[in-house]
This record gives sequence, structure tokens and C-alpha cells, in this order.
Amino acid sequence: MCIFCDIIHHEIPSKVVYEDDQVLAILDIAQVTKGHTLVMPKKHVENLLECDDETAAHLIQVVKKLAVQIQARTGAAAINILNNNGELAGQTVKHLHFHIIPRYNENDAFVCEFKESEKQDLDEVLALIQ
Ligand code: 5GP
Ligand code: ZN
Repeated sequence: MCIFCDIIHHEIPSKVVYEDDQVLAILDIAQVTKGHTLVMPKKHVENLLECDDETAAHLIQVVKKLAVQIQARTGAAAINILNNNGELAGQTVKHLHFHIIPRYNENDAFVCEFKESEKQDLDEVLALIQ
């Protein structure tokens, strides 16, 4: 179905960090920082928006537990938890996954920057999205 399904079914090897009946966590093949881990549901779901609540709830529990464990084991100063939904958002593998990215210093290879775009009328935005 997809490359992560192949990993889940042991058709492609991976370094398994954690596994239960619903979730698999593996080391990302391209370690942005040491300990960069991907956490995914075993069932094929394209992204978080399409995921059923029960799977999502368990997945986020595992993400949190592993983030705590990885920070403790690596001694990282901080952790980014990232989930890309859709190509424009940077999703390259269309199987839901969270990135756990330990952060060691300002020169880490991971950069996440929030810039302000044009000014928005916040009441209008609220009316739009609520
Ligand atoms: P995305 O850009 O979809 O959020 O992240 C996909 C991630 O999957 C990338 O960080 C990429 O390095 C990782 N990845 C792609 N193919 C493989 C693979 O075959 N094995 C592992 N372990 N990671 C992979
Ligand atoms: Zn899949």
C-alpha cells in the first residue's frame, strides 16, 4: 500500500523503537537529529485528519510516552513533535506519522520558523473557522 505499510509488515527493514498491536515507532532513516523517531499507526491512514479518534488517541499517547523516553535517554534539551498533513505541508509519505525530533542546540539541522504574513482581522478569522 505504501512504504510505511511495507515496513510495518516487515517487508522493508527498520530500526524499531517501540511496537504494540496498533502502533509502530522506528528511527527515521534520515536522522535530522540523533534519535529522530517516526511514530505511525499500523493501519494505513493517509493523515491525521482522516484518522479515527480511537487510533489517534492511542497514537498520541505513544508519541508522548516516547518523547519523554527519548528526551531522557538522549539528554536532549527540548523536543519538537511534528505531523505534516498534505504535500504542501511537507508530507512526503502518505501514511500518518508523527516525527519526534530531539533538540540539542541552536545549530541543529532542524529549522522551524514562524513568520507573520499579512495582518488578519482576527474576528473574521474566528467567524470563518469556528
Ligand atoms: P514526511 O516528510 O512525510 O513528514 O516524513 C517522511 C519521513 O520518512 C522522512 O523524514 C524520511 O526520512 C522518512 N523515511 C522515508 N522512507 C523511509 C524508510 O524507508 N525508512 C525509514 N526509517 N524512514 C523513511
Ligand atoms: Zn501505509
